[in-house]
Amino acid sequence: LIAKRTLKRLPNRARITAQINKGMQRANNGDDGQPISLQSNKPIVLVLGSGWAAHSLIKVVDTDKYDVVCVSPRNHFVFTPMLPSSAIGTVEFRSLLEPIRISNPFVTYLEAECTEIDVGKKHALCRAQIAYEDGRRPQFEVIYDIMVCAVGEMTATFGVPGVMEHCYFMKEITDTVGLRRRIGESFELAALPGTTEEDRRKALHFCVVGGGPTGVEFAGTLRDFVRGDLSRKYPELMADVKVTLLQSGQTILTSFTDNLQNRALETFRKTGVDVRLGVRVTEVTANKIKLKDGELIDYGICVWSTGNAARPIVQAISAQIPEQKATMEGRNPASTKLAVDPFLRIEGATDAIALGDCSRMAGRPLPATAQVAGQQGAYIARMINRGYVPGRGGLTVPFPCRRADASANGSQNGAAVDEKYYSKPFQFLSLGAMAYLGSDTAVTQLEAGKAVFDLAGYVSFLLWRSVYVTKQVSTRNRVLILFDWVKTRIFGRDLSVF
Ligand code: FAD
Repeated sequence: LIAKRTLKRLPNRARITAQINKGMQRANNGDDGQPISLQSNKPIVLVLGSGWAAHSLIKVVDTDKYDVVCVSPRNHFVFTPMLPSSAIGTVEFRSLLEPIRISNPFVTYLEAECTEIDVGKKHALCRAQIAYEDGRRPQFEVIYDIMVCAVGEMTATFGVPGVMEHCYFMKEITDTVGLRRRIGESFELAALPGTTEEDRRKALHFCVVGGGPTGVEFAGTLRDFVRGDLSRKYPELMADVKVTLLQSGQTILTSFTDNLQNRALETFRKTGVDVRLGVRVTEVTANKIKLKDGELIDYGICVWSTGNAARPIVQAISAQIPEQKATMEGRNPASTKLAVDPFLRIEGATDAIALGDCSRMAGRPLPATAQVAGQQGAYIARMINRGYVPGRGGLTVPFPCRRADASANGSQNGAAVDEKYYSKPFQFLSLGAMAYLGSDTAVTQLEAGKAVFDLAGYVSFLLWRSVYVTKQVSTRNRVLILFDWVKTRIFGRDLSVF
């Protein structure tokens, strides 16, 4: 398989040099204070983001036909479902990442954040993520032919005071790096001779807010870490360790079947995770969590995982398109998603596509998952490779599928084009959902058409592991994850704090 893939890639490798020579140029040198403008002799596909949707697009997009420019503040893809495992060291951080420059060397990657977009003029203004020594952050603009918005969402705080300042999130790899360090520090602090009993109990109280898959998986994996590794290294502290899951609803894992929800609650009862249902956090201070009924909870570490909110760039795009504004009437701006048609084109914009968590298909809402984002990215890459013609009927007719010229001419002349030349709308194939509960137990909801099957326990855990290892985006990552699991089984998790 590896030999076959290498042989397939060889012709691509030979094209690299030619492409760089012919490729993107800068329109000015930026000395006049104006942003540098990127130009190309091929249509430019601007991809915003390097997450699940953008990455699956970048992997397969045809860079012979288009200059693909990827703008994202992080230069790598993150395998988000394993972030909880990396926060406690079951797998190493780097095993979850793939640099965009490796994913597709023919794509121009620029480490920047898109700050403004004029969807009418097709201009995107971007600001570098890293600053020069004197604090300047260079700006540049991309005049695109097709824009693919795949910026995902950010963690929602629901305006709860203190969350931003005192809580840990689990969205980016930097979040889990900080969290892992803090967990190690908490144990070292608690083990110091001068630490009082009260301080020790506070330091070792880990609170997770949010009973969705992320919060549940983190609570379960943290319990594994405490019972499996820390109990051997800090036996005297074990009586003071507590893991609490705070959930505003009356159950956890609400997207799973009732049976699996009950199974998850039962597993947590057995493994000692304290699940508190129907509690709402109203404020977080440096060492206390305040609940709606006035109760104050002392804590050492609080992990916030309660849902997502729109990024500013998505709100800005939505605000300039009347069709988008209309769909948002009466809603909270933080819940903005870009309304797309069945071909994932942003309603009311030309040659603009939105994928993944930041998009919403009108009338057919899809879950905000990696599964959806990955399938959408691959779908759009295939459409683009089949000859999407910017500006020529891109919005008024479905994507040309078999013969780009036929549908482009058809749409120009206003003549009907044979349906066989059109692509099919995006169809999401749901394979189900999984969540790890700790103690080598997981819950799996398998879907085949309308039939739903439940699976829980050790077999589900084995399935969870095999799915996650096969879903890794490269052979390198698959091997790294397998090594990490074997290493953890034999030697335990690394406890060094740095
Ligand atoms: P993201 O993957 O979030 O990527 C967004 C990208 O946009 C990032 O690269 C970001 O840096 C970039 N960006 C942000 N702002 C800008 C800007 N202004 N300009 C340019 N780029 C920008 N889903 C599942 O299906 N199964 C699971 O088991 C699962 N587990 C999860 C566990 C965790 C801890 C988390 C956080 C999520 C999990 N999800 C899971 C959900 C899944 O990760 C998301 O649905 C998925 O990441 C959405 O993909 P996306 O491409 O839309 O956005």
